[in-house]
Formats: sequence, C-alpha cells, structure tokens
Amino acid sequence: MLINSLNRCWLLATVARRFSSANLKSVSMQKINYDRFVNALSARRKPSPIRELTKLYASAPAGTIFLAGGIPNGSTFPFSQMTVELKDGSSLKISGKTMENALQYQPTPGYPALIHQLKKFQSEVHKLKELFWMKNDLLVSTGSQDALCKALEMSLEEGDPILVQEPIYPGTSAIIRPLNAKMVPIAQDEEGIIPSALEDVLSTFGTAEEVSAKSNGVPKLLYLNSTGANPTGATISTLRKKEIYKIVCEYNLVIMEDDPYYFLHFEEQDPVSFLSMDVEGRVLRFDSFSKILSSGLRIGFVTGPKDLVHRIELHTQASTMHTSAFSQVVVSTLLEEWGSAKLQQHFKSIQKFYKDKRDCMLAAADKHLKGLAEWNVPKAGMFLWIRVPGIADTKKLITEGGILHGVILVPGKDFLCTDDAKSQYFRASYTVASPQDIDKGFERLANLIREENK
Ligand code: PMP
Repeated sequence: MLINSLNRCWLLATVARRFSSANLKSVSMQKINYDRFVNALSARRKPSPIRELTKLYASAPAGTIFLAGGIPNGSTFPFSQMTVELKDGSSLKISGKTMENALQYQPTPGYPALIHQLKKFQSEVHKLKELFWMKNDLLVSTGSQDALCKALEMSLEEGDPILVQEPIYPGTSAIIRPLNAKMVPIAQDEEGIIPSALEDVLSTFGTAEEVSAKSNGVPKLLYLNSTGANPTGATISTLRKKEIYKIVCEYNLVIMEDDPYYFLHFEEQDPVSFLSMDVEGRVLRFDSFSKILSSGLRIGFVTGPKDLVHRIELHTQASTMHTSAFSQVVVSTLLEEWGSAKLQQHFKSIQKFYKDKRDCMLAAADKHLKGLAEWNVPKAGMFLWIRVPGIADTKKLITEGGILHGVILVPGKDFLCTDDAKSQYFRASYTVASPQDIDKGFERLANLIREENK
C-alpha cells in the first residue's frame, strides 16, 4: 500500500479543510468583515472541485496516486527541455521535473515553488511580519492587469462609487466603466493623491461612522498608484501614505495599491508601500514583473487579505485556470539562480537606466518646451506629465497635429474619469526613444504648440 495511514489522515484533513466553505470563513482571523468588499456575483463563485484537487496534488506526499484530474500525459508533449540564455552570459537550464511542471497544469494560485519565492520576496521587500501570511495570501496573475480586473469585478456593483486617483491609468478605467460603477476622482499633485481632497470627497457621503457602516451607495475602495503613477509620474511620500492610510481605516475602505513601477524609482531607498504599513488588512497590492523582467512573460501577483485573494482565485479557476506555467517556471528558475542579492543588483541597474532616460527627456524639455509648457520632475516610473497652459484641451493638438508633425504622445483627456472633460496635459514616455529622438520629438512638439498659440 503506497499511501500509509499517516498520509491518508493528511489527505482527509486537507480535503475537509478545502471543501468546507464554513471552515474557510472561520480559518480567517481578521476583524474586518470582507463581505462588504465582495459583490453578489463574486459571492456566488464556488470552488471548482477539480481545481482544488490539482492544488492538493501539487502538495501531496510522494507516493500519492492521482487518478482524479483530466491531466494530459506529459510524455506525449513534444518539448523535452529548454535553455534560456541570459544577457550576462549565464543560462537557465530547465529540464526533468521542473520542465514537466512548466508544461503541465498547475494549482490556480500559482506554481508552488514560485509562490514560495514570491512570499519570501514580499516579506523582505515590504518588511512583513511573520504572522502576515496567517491572514494574507498571494496569487500569481497574468500580469498585474489580470488581478486588478478580477479584484474590481469581485467588488463593484452597478452604480457603486469607487475612489480613484485622477488622472487615472486608462487600463483601470477600462475595467470600471463597463461595470457601470462611478469613478469618484481624487485630486493629485506632484506627491500623488491629496489626503485633504480624499477626506473632503468622503465627507460628502457621510461621517466616517456612517460610511463605515453602509454597504451600498458609499465608496469602499480607493484605487491608486503609489510609485511613479501612470500618467503623472508622482510618488506618494511616506508621510502622505500614513495620512491616507489613517483615513482609509476611519472610513472602512480597502486600498487597491496598483504599483507596477515600484522598482523603477530614482531614490536611494525603496519606497515604503501601503502594504508594509497595513495593520488592519486593508491593502490589496498588485505587483508586476512587466517592467523589471519582461512584459511578455505576463507575470504579476496580488498580495492581500486571504478572503479577497481567495475570491480572485475562484474567478481564475473559472477563467484561465492559472497563469502560464511556462512563464512561471522561467521566472522561478531565474529567481532561484539569482537569489535576492543579484535581483536587487538588477533593479539598481534598471533604476539607473530609466533615471538617465528621464534626465535626457528633462534636458530636451528644458531646451525646447521652456515657456511653452510645465512639468514636474518624476521620482519614479516612465512618464513625464506635461501641461500646456495656453491650450484648453490638448486632444486635437496631440492627436491630429502630432501625427502630422511626426510625434506621438498621449493626450491628458484619455486619463480622465469623465468622457467630455478637457485636459491641458499630455503624457510623454522616456523609456524606448533614443536621446536624439526625444530631442527631435520635443522640438516638433514645441513647433506644434507655437503654431497653435499663434
Ligand atoms: N497598472 C498600471 C498603473 C500600469 O501602468 C500597467 C501597465 N501599463 C498595469 C497596471 C498592467 O501591467 P501588467 O503588464 O503587469 O499587466
């Protein structure tokens, strides 16, 4: 008999735990009632029995015979191993059991080895306490966009107000708009969303006590980018984060910390995240490897309260089942090979690369746009957010004029919450253009603005 009695007990206990939804609730030791953040559609999601068994299979002791899943036999696949060559001359060899994992179905939350590495990574980067993982969890998503989309779809009902930084990343408004939720804009300056503006907006919905107690018609979520925001490039200072977090606790909100530019900062120290200061379980944090390893791998991860991450997991069970195992194994092997010291070294080199790019764009802006436009110096991210005071709305100038003059930028209007609003801004990205092209592009832009101002 291959499964001894000990293993059988383990199996029964695990199955019982996995399948009892009542138990799932009681395992959670959080004080917040997360039902407030879960809409009717999401509440109807039930665990997929087969997906749950796949999770079980991945953590089963050696010798467990798995006759449950509809898993294709890996021996029929044409791939046997892969070698990924790195730019530093080294290579990642993926073969044997690891290659089998790359080619096979994996548990919905992610490839177990990667989950383990990412939890360690988050604990180090955000200085999480040991107990953190008792109440919180992590799920690998297909880019951070995937988790962001599922999280918003988990929470928002038609007509629900949601607090968002304005200007806002259009990828987020593209999720919110069709849900018929109401984006409630919170003003930003060069340090990100302004705490007093947040409080003013919240007070229009009632007192902190009233808002906290209601489940309908009041905002429950606050969406923001902490570091190098898209499109403004703003980074929220630690002091501001503390003020915002205090308000979030008072009004019983959850922060959706969408922070794909976290490692693209130009300061000595990594920023202090909302996740690292969360003591109440109010932060759902979205991370991405798109800007630091590869955007094509489509690897992101969401970290936050178990009850909420579990809802995202159930959605994933019913959609993609899991993020590409191939991509997950490549990332996991890289992290294993590099360790945290080499990874940090890689981040430092990216930071220097983009800081130089930013400085190059700032120099071109100084040379060509002084007196015609205004901008802040971003401390992180990929963008310069430029205001043209003489023009009421940049849409026509940037789209029609820009194409005609051979320079393509994004008009500010595309980042606003309301369709018919005007914007004096546009977004310029310094990531891929050469210094010569940045200079030429801004020269063309300056001519365009001058013509418009005539
Ligand atoms: N959030 C923001 C603010 C972004 O700018 C982006 C990418 N443009 C994303 C999320 C999505 O990134 P990913 O490639 O990880 O899906």
